[in-house]
Amino acid sequence: MPVLDNGLFDFFSAGTWAVIRNLTIFFVGVFWLSVAFWVYKDARRRIDDPWLVGMATVLGLVPPFVGALIYMLFRPPEYLEDVRERELEIKAMEQRLSRRGELHCPVCRAEVDASFLVCPVCTTRLRQSCRTCKQPLEALWQVCPYCETPVEPVAVELGTQTLTPPRRERSA
Ligand SMILES: [Zn+2]
Ligand SMILES: [Zn+2]
Repeated sequence: MPVLDNGLFDFFSAGTWAVIRNLTIFFVGVFWLSVAFWVYKDARRRIDDPWLVGMATVLGLVPPFVGALIYMLFRPPEYLEDVRERELEIKAMEQRLSRRGELHCPVCRAEVDASFLVCPVCTTRLRQSCRTCKQPLEALWQVCPYCETPVEPVAVELGTQTLTPPRRERSA
């Protein structure tokens, strides 16, 4: 019975094709929504402005698939967290540089430590040390903060004779 066979075959074939077509539409639809969701997630990690994230998501939906490709071409190249991290690193580096910049020998510009008494490179005297406890003293200090010894004014040597400027008297 070729007619019946044919009819059955046609019926079966039509049903199969319908199923295949529906499955294809279903999977394409799922893939389409997944791509749009990926665009949304990716945009949130790269874009700060919620309006732009919304626009990127819409672009991920329409036109289907092509919109996601267009998004990938024009999206910001870096994640927001990477940008923030780099900004923090640059800020920390600038702070380190400016702090170090204050501690240079005034003569030869060599790096010196805050506790150095003389520059190790050019032997310029950077600061006095306390007579009693040998702690390095700041130029403006009148008294050693570590042991309370009054700071002697810097002696100026002239030949054999040592001239010592009169010490400033402090009330109280
Ligand atoms: Zn020096
Ligand atoms: Zn001292």
